Amino acid sequence: MNINTNYQNISDSYLFSTIAKKVNEFSKANPDKEIIKLGIGDVTLPLCKVVVNALKSASEEMGVKETFRGYGPEQGYDFLREKIRTYYNTHNVELETDEIFISDGAKSDLGNILDLFSTDNTVLVPDPVYPVYVDTNTMAGRKIIYIDANAQNEFLPLPDESIKADIIYICSPNNPTGAVYNKAQLKQWVDYANKNNAVILFDSAYECFITDENLPHSIFEIEGAKSCAVEFCSLSKMAGFTGTRCGYTVVPKQIQNGLLNKMWLRRQTTKFNGVPYIIQRGAEAVFTPEGQKEIQENLNYYKENAKIISQTLDKHNIWHIGGKHSPYIWLKCPDNMTSWEFFDYLLENVQIVGTPGSGFGKNGEGYFRLTSFGSRENTIKACERLDKFLK
Ligand SMILES: *Cc1c(COP(=O)(O)O)cnc(C)c1O
Repeated sequence: MNINTNYQNISDSYLFSTIAKKVNEFSKANPDKEIIKLGIGDVTLPLCKVVVNALKSASEEMGVKETFRGYGPEQGYDFLREKIRTYYNTHNVELETDEIFISDGAKSDLGNILDLFSTDNTVLVPDPVYPVYVDTNTMAGRKIIYIDANAQNEFLPLPDESIKADIIYICSPNNPTGAVYNKAQLKQWVDYANKNNAVILFDSAYECFITDENLPHSIFEIEGAKSCAVEFCSLSKMAGFTGTRCGYTVVPKQIQNGLLNKMWLRRQTTKFNGVPYIIQRGAEAVFTPEGQKEIQENLNYYKENAKIISQTLDKHNIWHIGGKHSPYIWLKCPDNMTSWEFFDYLLENVQIVGTPGSGFGKNGEGYFRLTSFGSRENTIKACERLDKFLK
């Protein structure tokens, strides 16, 4: 046999292992110093009550002959697809139930969707970026071109007519920068995609952090998007499902006269076994009025943390974006430090750990990501240390 040599082209990710190594070395040398992690990319608050209750009662059903369920529909149970369809209505998006596919998360589907596209396609990826887009396409051997997200365009790059791309990744609100596209900006991408017969893979994993009602939660709020965009969303950050696993992908029937929707159904029914019944019942509870209220309390907790961080940075005139509609705060390292210099500076002086922006792409150099996923107590303590040190 011959192996897929494209795997040799994936760059090893040293980002989080290097962070862990530096933190370990520091703790060993300074056992009395308490380190606060503001680099966490995972949620920390537990599942909400209605979700836990739904998981429990679904488990009970599975233990009773009359309500036991075996193989389920790979594309998801209608009770959940229907709830998500209604959820989209709250953002003025009309979908058909069979345009919604339940998945075990956005990461899987963002990679798996590539089965439907030719390896001859050129992929356009913003830089800095969530590494999954680049790695999955590298594994398949596709050509990747980058579009610069930087301070000049407020980390929201717009289409360039001179660039020809077939598959375009957009993540809004963005990880790592927290930047959010407005409707007029997204319209430019939709128009570009339709004109160039390209597809937009829209990652809306953080849409639930948006509070400004003028900002789009879904690309389908934009006219023309249904003929060129596939949307990926997840309950991971929305409802703390990072360990529970559930997400959804919308493949509109307008793309290539329903062909892409049909192909995705065929792909999923062949290669995917679906999300467990119990988990789908837990996910269903997220979309009930009580579920929405409870997850909002958790989201507000994270957003308050972000506000505390942002106010501290403001006080010391440190340029930053994000935090408002996102759990991420993206800051410019002071005194022209590189991302790793600033990492060391924070670790040594105030024992705060964040994520160097350079780990997300070349345009991330000189920037730094802090997250609001920590506890309130630790967030406040970290900000007090920063405040005192920067004076
Ligand atoms: C966390 C995250 C996701 C969600 O991934 P899951 O696989 O659903 O947990 C998707 N996209 C981005 C950019 C993320 O940061």
